[in-house]
Amino acid sequence: MITIQREKELRATIRQQKSQGKRIGFVPTMGNLHDGHIALVNRALHLCDYVVTSVYVNPLQFGANEDLEKYPRTLVADKEKLVQAGNHALFLPQTSQIYTGGLEEHTKVVVPNLTEDHCGASRPGHFDGVTTVVSILFNMVQPDVAVFGQKDFQQLAVIRKMVQDLHMPVTVEGHPTIREDDGLAMSSRNGYLDANQRKTATILYQTLQQTTDKLKNSFSSKPVNDDFALLETEARAKLTEAGFRPDYYNIVASDTLRPATADDKEITVLAAAYLGNTRLIDNISITL
Ligand code: AMP
Repeated sequence: MITIQREKELRATIRQQKSQGKRIGFVPTMGNLHDGHIALVNRALHLCDYVVTSVYVNPLQFGANEDLEKYPRTLVADKEKLVQAGNHALFLPQTSQIYTGGLEEHTKVVVPNLTEDHCGASRPGHFDGVTTVVSILFNMVQPDVAVFGQKDFQQLAVIRKMVQDLHMPVTVEGHPTIREDDGLAMSSRNGYLDANQRKTATILYQTLQQTTDKLKNSFSSKPVNDDFALLETEARAKLTEAGFRPDYYNIVASDTLRPATADDKEITVLAAAYLGNTRLIDNISITL
């Protein structure tokens, strides 16, 4: 695996690979890699001939009171995992190269509507930071395929919309969520949890499963709008009782991310909840 820090070197590498007819796969990450990230790399390796993974903790997607400073940075272990996976190039840009115009003055890419609710409501500006950095990275790497996790369901939807609206010549591939044995979605932020919180954390996924089981099985005909609201309220209460501070718990149409209605067949339950200061997110999609 080669490690690349400069845009010029990255462009030369990509040019050379493309001249040999290689298809380029890309996996953007913020590092502290776990099996979820590696699954994305494996998918990219399956779909493409040459895979670039980036590790960059993007300041533009963190709010003022969020965990930018303490976000785990584990580059040595990350490199080892990427080598083991067979990743070809690790791209490690610096903020001065990404945001050449300075963070404040920089051009932003904004996807409206889809970014308003859920994580967008709790983390103002977060998705603008994500779409901006992903656009810049796409322009630098010029991948044929980019792989993102369904764990960040809203992020995946926002990126698909951006790629479509801006006619970006890249195929976006979504990968299912990789979980710990007890069901907790793997996340770099799980490392913030103490032993007790870690035990409790699995209840987030269990609650999502209970909601989707009820949606599938508990209604003689299809659930109606009041049923959705009731299930959301029940789930929030369960999470609160378990020791979480629920941020949101929303049953939505999988394509629009708007509140689900009785007509929707593709449904996703989106959840975010705090354990102490740690914010966990997860989701489950079903077809009714
Ligand atoms: P992050 O480093 O957290 O920004 O995540 C980088 C990419 O990995 C994003 O596309 C995430 O959706 C994806 N990802 C993170 N955790 C998981 C997981 N448990 N399963 C699958 N993909 C994941």
